[in-house]
Amino acid sequence: MKFIVDEDLCIGCAACEEACPDVFQMSDDGEMAKVILDPVPEDLQDCAMTAEEECPVEAISHE
Ligand code: SF4
Repeated sequence: MKFIVDEDLCIGCAACEEACPDVFQMSDDGEMAKVILDPVPEDLQDCAMTAEEECPVEAISHE
């Protein structure tokens, strides 16, 4: 499964990193999240889905 952060929507709240730090990390300037595992392995898909659900601006999607 592949997860994507829409950089135009992301507000840099870091909720996804808190929910699933193995998959999402804030950029060095802290302004947006990035996906650090592509594809996301099966054992991390549940936490990545939780991060997607908790994103306040629905900037995370998967395919
Ligand atoms: S939870 Fe959403 S808005 Fe917040 S940093 Fe992650 S992708 Fe960006």
